[in-house]
Amino acid sequence: LLGAMQDWPMRVTRLVDHAEREHGDGEIVTAWADGNVTRTTWRDVARDARKLAQKLENFGIRKGDRVATLAMNHVHHLIAWYGTCGMGGVLHTINPRLFPDQLEYIANHAEDRILFYDRAFTPLVEAMKPRWTTIEQYICMDPAEGETGFKDWIDTEDGDYVWPEGDERDPCGLCYTSGTTGNPKGVLYEHRSTMLHTFAQISPDIMGLSKQSVVLPIVPMFHANAWGVPWAAPATGAKLVLSADYRPDVMCRLFREEKVTHSAGVPTVWLTMIEHIERTGEKLGVLEKVTIGGSAAPRAMIRWLRDRGVDVGHAWGMTETSPIGTCGAPPRGFDQLSDDDQVEMIARQGAVPFGIELRVVDDEGRVQPRDGMSSGRLQARGPWVVKRYFKAEEDATDDEQWFDTGDVAVLHPDGTMQITDRAKDVIKSGGEWISSIDLENAAVGCPGVAEAAAIGIPHPKWDERPLLLVVRGKDSDVGEEAIREHLRANVAKWWMPDAIEFVDALPHSATGKLSKKDIRAQFSDYRFA
Ligand code: ADP
Repeated sequence: LLGAMQDWPMRVTRLVDHAEREHGDGEIVTAWADGNVTRTTWRDVARDARKLAQKLENFGIRKGDRVATLAMNHVHHLIAWYGTCGMGGVLHTINPRLFPDQLEYIANHAEDRILFYDRAFTPLVEAMKPRWTTIEQYICMDPAEGETGFKDWIDTEDGDYVWPEGDERDPCGLCYTSGTTGNPKGVLYEHRSTMLHTFAQISPDIMGLSKQSVVLPIVPMFHANAWGVPWAAPATGAKLVLSADYRPDVMCRLFREEKVTHSAGVPTVWLTMIEHIERTGEKLGVLEKVTIGGSAAPRAMIRWLRDRGVDVGHAWGMTETSPIGTCGAPPRGFDQLSDDDQVEMIARQGAVPFGIELRVVDDEGRVQPRDGMSSGRLQARGPWVVKRYFKAEEDATDDEQWFDTGDVAVLHPDGTMQITDRAKDVIKSGGEWISSIDLENAAVGCPGVAEAAAIGIPHPKWDERPLLLVVRGKDSDVGEEAIREHLRANVAKWWMPDAIEFVDALPHSATGKLSKKDIRAQFSDYRFA
């Protein structure tokens, strides 16, 4: 017996079609790299996406072919997403901050045929051209005055185009992880996985988006799909503000002038923002809610935003999970908690949305209780979690589809999840684990500390002991003793770093996170005195 409801393959074209029909006048604002601000509507974006689809077909792009972007956030990038996916192509978002060897590897591995790029990346594109073997056409998205580019390329078409139908399991997007070990690995998103992720994302407990919202993602469209915001905005009708420039003064201006209510970004972004605001006294406008993820949001950061009336949602995810794995969702009774306990709750990585399953297993693979204490490797499964990396010979999951995230976590009885570390970053001291995240989080709570990193240093007796690296805030002269005193009040005695070193800056990865790999390399010869 078959059901008797309608066939409605979950293709991402439904999102842009819906936005054109229901939110046709809905605005998309772009702050371009050259400082210009332009405005378009979903009606225009839908038309231009169809023009691009026609153009790609005429160029000879076929279903499943990869079209790449090397671009920051702006409306042409958005059009490239919808046009490419819409005609059946696969949109490969490349992270321009990767190293040349990685850039060479991923574009060739993906067999990209066309590259849309930002003018700012021209030197990079020119340097890479001889190494990229499959790209036939390079098109600049934001050409200088008097030069031709993306808009001219698609404007030869009339937009009179009907999206091809297709299977909802067809691929539509490709994103490579930065590859902390070995070559980067490609995650091949489907129309269906993207649509289900979007349905989850627009539920109130995730980012809190609605038609009244004005959302400015400060997460690049090449970083796990800007956390899905460019898919969720057309579904809800929220006004979308895109910026190719992430400098905090530009962000603050957009917050104010565009009346941004919702934003999202990694802790490094908010760190820069907080420093800027502390220095200049700029205001956040009518900002209501900020989603922080990508690395652990420090308590001090959560508190700072809350003190300014901004609600904080903490999210965990990865390229392999599209990326939302957990998000916000304060548990029942949250309102009755004290301010400190609320912050403590938000410092956890949020709750599991419908569509994702999580579990924690020990080293022998035994499932651990959700008791808020038993920590182990975090595994995930669900329709927007990777099954197999692009072109891999084997699944990335076990027989029951569990994907091992490489993170160490605790599940609490109230449904919240808490990341204690990345498996490769935990500091193993005397057979016990010290969470580098907790140490860092405690350290940045000390006034005058701007950023901190904790790594394990080999120790003859304990196997490893923590070394804490500290970047002082501007004009701060905070010393070792003040930090130790602060830590004593916040972490177990045996977690106390064996040494604290002050550094001018810490290295960050291509997605703006502390790069523990580089930090470990830098301090590989370090020994405690
Ligand atoms: P990359 O490794 O290239 O940065 P991802 O952005 O996919 O790629 O990173 C995913 C990882 O980021 C997760 O496995 C986890 O270790 C870390 N992460 C993401 N969100 C959080 C969070 N809220 N708290 C702690 N760690 C996080």
